[in-house]
Amino acid sequence: MKIIIHGGFFSESDQSHDVKVAKQNSLKQIAQDSFEFLKTHSAEETVVHAVKLLEDDLLYNAGMGSQIQSDGKIRMSASLMNGETQKFSGVINIENVKNPIEVAQVLMKEDDRVLGGNGAKQYAAENGFADFSTEIPQRRKEYEEKLKNGGKGTVGCVALDQKGRLAAATSTGGKGFELVGRISDSATVAGNFANGYCAVSCTGVGEDIVSNATAAKIVTRVTDGFPLKNAVEKTFVELKEINGFAGAVAIDKNGNIAHQDSYPTMVFASFDGEHFEIFD
Ligand code: ASP
Repeated sequence: MKIIIHGGFFSESDQSHDVKVAKQNSLKQIAQDSFEFLKTHSAEETVVHAVKLLEDDLLYNAGMGSQIQSDGKIRMSASLMNGETQKFSGVINIENVKNPIEVAQVLMKEDDRVLGGNGAKQYAAENGFADFSTEIPQRRKEYEEKLKNGGKGTVGCVALDQKGRLAAATSTGGKGFELVGRISDSATVAGNFANGYCAVSCTGVGEDIVSNATAAKIVTRVTDGFPLKNAVEKTFVELKEINGFAGAVAIDKNGNIAHQDSYPTMVFASFDGEHFEIFD
């Protein structure tokens, strides 16, 4: 059993030391809590649990604290992939729900498993998700000042459970000030992908992650026999060729974990019941 989570990027130039310490502490806490949860739940249930905790934490750009788009509204995207069943579900540009990843989880049972915009919101309402604004004053201030928040704060989790099953979940508030209708990578197979061999969750500039097909490519390489570390490294060499900005966390069926970013510093934490690894 193992778990690795991420909370997007930390930028020394735009964020304070206090924010860094707060993110380190929060990631450690969430990794530990989610590992406990993993002892009695499946990989799929656990990645949803971890991403929900990350969505609820105002430090990250997902769920509460999501970025505001160019028209002043928040639209969030989230997805879930079960490596065993090979099923992917997600919501794209959903408004006014507290936890987009939970809507993705409910969608897992449907034939139509990825919903966008109003349809996603309507589905959430029909399935008992209350109307909820995830806006916080800090984001409104940034929006009003037309300032970009330097830290990218998408969240994600990949996990291996005790039955050897893998899963990945990712959730984002987008990149901030984007054109209305923009689709992030987070609810695509470029940003979130898993099978029986490997699970990957990404953060960074969605357009770069889609161009590089980052998560799907790492998983495919591991499936075809690449060691996890090499699969991640080769994929990031290719990302560099397009000057891509991304980070990824990955886990394979043997419990190897990997993390990489093309620009410093992706914030992440991993836990295996004994050892923590936390970004610095
Ligand atoms: N990948 C997200 C997006 O492009 C942003 C992020 O990772 O912070 O929407």
